[in-house]
Amino acid sequence: MMPDSRPQSSDFRAIGYGRQSIDGGDISAVVEVLRSDWLTTGPKVEEFERVFARFCGARHAVAVSSGTAALHCSVYAAGIGPGDEVIVSPMTFAASANCVLYCGGTPVFADVEPETLLIDPAETARKVTERTKAIIAVDYAGQPCNYDALRAVAEKYGLTLIADACHAVGGFYKGRPVGSLAHMSAFSFHPVKNMTTGEGGMITTDNTNYADRMRSFRNHGIATDYRQRETMGSWFYEMVDLGFNYRITDMQCALGISQLKKLPDWIARRRCIAAKYDDAFAKVSGVTPLGLRADVIPPSGNSDTPTLRHSETSSVHAYHLYVIRVSGDRTAIFRRLREAGIGVNVHYIPVHFHPYYREHLGTGPGLCPVAEAAYEGILSLPMFPGLSNADVERVITEVKRAVCKKKTSSAHYP
Ligand SMILES: *Cc1c(COP(=O)(O)O)cnc(C)c1O
Repeated sequence: MMPDSRPQSSDFRAIGYGRQSIDGGDISAVVEVLRSDWLTTGPKVEEFERVFARFCGARHAVAVSSGTAALHCSVYAAGIGPGDEVIVSPMTFAASANCVLYCGGTPVFADVEPETLLIDPAETARKVTERTKAIIAVDYAGQPCNYDALRAVAEKYGLTLIADACHAVGGFYKGRPVGSLAHMSAFSFHPVKNMTTGEGGMITTDNTNYADRMRSFRNHGIATDYRQRETMGSWFYEMVDLGFNYRITDMQCALGISQLKKLPDWIARRRCIAAKYDDAFAKVSGVTPLGLRADVIPPSGNSDTPTLRHSETSSVHAYHLYVIRVSGDRTAIFRRLREAGIGVNVHYIPVHFHPYYREHLGTGPGLCPVAEAAYEGILSLPMFPGLSNADVERVITEVKRAVCKKKTSSAHYP
């Protein structure tokens, strides 16, 4: 252990990498549901779906119990089964690829672009075979993928384009909201995400057939829900598909409705924090923030989202994560920051490195060299709207300190 000269005052506290924001309005919205007739499958579920669909500019939104359930529903609705291949980014949480396995399909990993770590449309096209049925594009860190190029690949080969938009709710691609850019878009409302329902998820789509299939799939494959039966005065129901219980409660949806109202302000705050980090690290050698695609507008200190969202040429990064690359010993830098109370993390271990994938799909190092090289140097810094300016300054100071220590022992780094 390094000797530590920092004062250990009683207000020294750890800063996590992500954290929910909950206010009194959120709490009363949930309590109100607890006093009502419907705790699940009730009016708040429909209301949340309605407001979320409108927010995303999509015809339908289907609320489910998690982001993982949302991905499973999408892959199911796309009709993926044994023998089918689905092209997925390796730079993501395992759930983005696991959902293909749930349906008996085979995930095929396409490498990412070196600057942004977003799935490379050219690599995606290169991985298409006779068996390919779909693409799952991950808006890594909150930056929308290159959807024009991905849609072109999907159209050319007749594939379903699914967006894993779990990081990107509140972002925009060339004037269009995230959630309206693919055939289906999956969202997560886990507490670290841009908005929360505790656990929860959503799928948006313009396709009524997909929406119907997903509504049935989240409820055991039963064609009508019990509210519909109640209004029709019938006990009869039929299970027409093998579905799951992926329902979400009215308490969660009431929280989601309340959170969604605040999301644009939170994205603006995230962008403001990103701008502070960008500014500070521009002057620090050995620390490089991830790159932005050409149409993505760099963040600025003033709340810039309201004007940007209307531009058809520019895109808005939702900054779920703020990822830097460090040149030098990432593990040592990670440890120093954790010891200093800065909750850094690594997003992600490439999916094809996980033992399950190695054993069952025969994947391993060499499959996606760009993602693998990036993995060695990435760190996610604290990023959530509740971070104060003082917190941000503290993170910047500690990152500089952690990286500098390394540089004295490796003077050859630029
Ligand atoms: C969080 C996340 C998921 C899974 O969402 P859960 O709600 O935790 O099931 C899937 N994909 C990505 C990219 C995520 O960040």
